[in-house]
Amino acid sequence: MLSIINTIALLGIDGTVIEVQVDVSPGIPHWEMVGMLGTSIKESKERISIAIKNSGIKLVGKKISVNLAPAEIRKEGSSFDLAITVGILINLGIIKKDNIQSSIFIGEISYSGNINSVKGVLPMCLTAQSKGFKRVYIPSQNMEEAKLVNDLEIVSVNSIKDLIQKINSNISVDKNINKIDDFKEEYSVDFEEVFGQEKVRRVMEIVAAGKHNCLLIGPPGVGKTMIAKRLITIFPKLTYKEVIEITKINSILGNIRDGNFITKRPFVEVNSNITLASFLGGGRNPMPGAITMANLGILFMDEFAEFSSQKLESLRTILDNKEIKLDRVKSTVIYPCKFVLVAAMNPCPCGYFGDEDRKCICSQNKIKKYISKISGPIVDRMDIQLDVKNIKYSQIYSSKKIEKSADIRKRVEKARRIQELRFKKEEIETNSEMDSNHIKKYCKLGNDENKFLEKLYNKMKFNIRTYNNILKISRTIADLEGKEKIDVSCIAESVQYKIDNKFYKRKCEK
Ligand SMILES: [Zn+2]
Repeated sequence: MLSIINTIALLGIDGTVIEVQVDVSPGIPHWEMVGMLGTSIKESKERISIAIKNSGIKLVGKKISVNLAPAEIRKEGSSFDLAITVGILINLGIIKKDNIQSSIFIGEISYSGNINSVKGVLPMCLTAQSKGFKRVYIPSQNMEEAKLVNDLEIVSVNSIKDLIQKINSNISVDKNINKIDDFKEEYSVDFEEVFGQEKVRRVMEIVAAGKHNCLLIGPPGVGKTMIAKRLITIFPKLTYKEVIEITKINSILGNIRDGNFITKRPFVEVNSNITLASFLGGGRNPMPGAITMANLGILFMDEFAEFSSQKLESLRTILDNKEIKLDRVKSTVIYPCKFVLVAAMNPCPCGYFGDEDRKCICSQNKIKKYISKISGPIVDRMDIQLDVKNIKYSQIYSSKKIEKSADIRKRVEKARRIQELRFKKEEIETNSEMDSNHIKKYCKLGNDENKFLEKLYNKMKFNIRTYNNILKISRTIADLEGKEKIDVSCIAESVQYKIDNKFYKRKCEK
């Protein structure tokens, strides 16, 4: 007899329905499984047969055939165990076939017959719901997470015995109703804790408004990390769609334990010791890396020049494509990485080159070598490059009132609304995403502005990418100020945030 059970496989951060076809017939004991399976699924046979035996069910003298369709999708992980088990138990006449209509089964089986939690239950349940399934059977430990999905009957099971009892008694459960429309987004840090640093505060506002990547260069201890951490507090308020996307990624990573949506933008800090797999994602059962954990938030790379050239080079395509393709045997997994990059580095190995108060002890060669690790194409992708200086003692005890994140955020949100209208018919959302055609269309300059920029272009020896970056930043500055046209003051300000030429020149003169 052939029985068909449904389950879900994850492709990146979304799921797809998998049909598990199981046939059990009398014959020489044999178990065959097909359907482009990863090694972890091939191990299912062993787990399931022992679990069934340990649950007091005889499985002798049976020929078992399992096919996971569609065949062109590669299946990885242990979450298919439960569906395969249900298929066998239906064939054995232990589970009532009629009771599993419109149901999805997700879970890993252990040798003892217990059902273990799996990762990614939230995106799997969201897929079940969107594909019109009524009920999902999941491991008890994943219950809190599954409950986040609306309009779905969720049945938690902890063992094969529990599963049989719940299906055969046709246990009734209510549809889950979950409201997160009025979620609160709270952060434990605020820009009002940043003393002085007016220029950096201004730059962070520009970064948040246009989603520009930025490089902070300065000696140790000036607060580069502290500032970057506060950047998420001035990003626009999270939307429902973004909350779901952030929570889905955390579900895949197995980070949801308390059954709450994640209502904070991620701030992910990485240092140069991170492995390539943890940075980009990967592994036998592909998992998202730091760049995907930072999706919709900030990726903070401290001591940028210390990162291996392999990591820095891979960053180029990630910044351009906003997603990563992880190649697997016969398949590819795609994860989103729409983060804003904030990179920080010292100006030289000792950290004090160009410092007004302390002397740099590095040789010119050492500095050149250090700087050359950050290649031109990477620096070019950092729309903003900023020299961060130490604050003066007087600024620490200044009586000047410091603006709160909430107030800065209001201006950022206003600038984002202008961009939303501007790019309504385009495939982009923010100024940082503009290509040269968008720039021609949306950053038109008047006569005076053109002359001003031409002078700078020749004097500072910009390349075309730097020229485009300046226009993008100028556009964001104009948006923050509610100006329809980019004027000379917008250009003059944005040029200040291009320190590369000045920076390299300084190196050469030394
Ligand atoms: Zn130095």
